[in-house]
Formats: sequence, C-alpha cells, structure tokens
Amino acid sequence: MGLREYRQKRRFGVTPEPAGAAAPRGRRAKPLGFVVQKHRASALHYDFRLEWKGVLLSWAVPKGPSLDPTVKRLAMQVEDHPLEYAKFEGVIPEGEYGGGTVMVWDRGTWTPELPDVDAALAKGDLKFTLAGKKLAGSWVLVRTRGGRMAAGGRSAWLLIKHRDAAASDADLETTEPRSVLTKRSLAEIARDEGGDVAKAASGDPPDEIRRLIANPELLVRTTRRKRAVWHSKPKQR
Ligand code: MN
Repeated sequence: MGLREYRQKRRFGVTPEPAGAAAPRGRRAKPLGFVVQKHRASALHYDFRLEWKGVLLSWAVPKGPSLDPTVKRLAMQVEDHPLEYAKFEGVIPEGEYGGGTVMVWDRGTWTPELPDVDAALAKGDLKFTLAGKKLAGSWVLVRTRGGRMAAGGRSAWLLIKHRDAAASDADLETTEPRSVLTKRSLAEIARDEGGDVAKAASGDPPDEIRRLIANPELLVRTTRRKRAVWHSKPKQR
C-alpha cells in the first residue's frame, strides 16, 4: 500500500495528475471522502476511490456503479492514489499511463458499516454507506473467490448496491453523464483541456453526442475557464 506504485507509473513533468503529498497527514476528524472518476482511457471505465489512511483505495469499474441491487459490477483493485486525486478532472496526455480524459463523476463522503475497515478489506467484504450527489445508501465491495492475487497483482472485486431507499433501476450512464464539479461532458472536458474530443465523446451517452453534433459551436472553446478545479494546462494557441 502507499503511493509507490502510483508514482512509478507516472511522469509528473508530463501528466497533470498530482504526485501526492510527501507523507499522509495524521488521522483526520473529517468524514472520509469518496470519488468516482469517469475515465475514457484505452477503454472507458469508472474509477471508484475510497479515502482510507491518507490515500484513496482504488478500483477500476469497467461498467460503472449500478443502483440496481441485482447487478454485480466487476471492480478491479488498482494502486492507491493520493488524496488530491479526488479533485483531478482533465486530460492525461496520450502515451502516458491512463492517457485520456478524466471527469469527476461523483463525490461525497463514505462511512464503513463495521468499524474495522482493515479487517473488512483483508476479508474481502467491505460494507459501506455513500453520501454523494449521484450515489447514496448502502453498498458492498466483495472480493471474488480466487480474486486475491500475489502482491502487486490486481484483485477482482464486485461492487453491489444493497436494497434500500437509494436503490433504483435508473441507468446512471444515460441519466447522470456529467461532471459533478463542472457539469461538463467528457467531450467538453477534452475540448477545454486540449484532449482528443472524438475519443472522449465516445464515452458520453448518445444524447450528449447528438446535442454536440447539432450545435458544433459547442465544440469550439471561446472563453478560458476559471481555474476552479485542478486540471491540466490548456494548449497554447
Ligand atoms: Mn482509470
């Protein structure tokens, strides 16, 4: 655990992603944060991250979270990320690790349903409650049988919604396609940050694409955005 693998995979002079603080700060009284980032890399996926012990525990969820308790979503555990990553929305240069467009798709706080999170992680059965803008209520991450790999390997988990008032059959991919930080679609983030707009748009739902095709001026950046969020340097024009 820790950020060694995260840092080894990235060139911080090239990618705008954060390197992370030198050492995690002490135990914080603040609620624990979570973030879900929609990431149009070589394949579209959602990165599900839970703050724990000064880092973001991270899983790549190819199909994204589902509010339907009968749906189990594969979640591949990946390297821990720095806490600052929760604010990262922008473009990772092509050719770099994870090259593509990143959106802050949901953010909020999480609460473990049992006090011993480390024991739950070791057991491969972590139950928790989310309070985000899109995701809420009770969830579980359960490691699959045979999903525990050698050190450094990836382990396979399932992300499942529990039955409660926040469960629903809504299709989040079409009903909630935009950033909770900036309301932008993937294509709009790529446009603003000098990324590959066509590639990013392939991760947006069809209605968003149709809207852009009907209004091509939406694809032309006319004003420089206020730097409200940590994002990549725009191309010099
Ligand atoms: Mn990713």
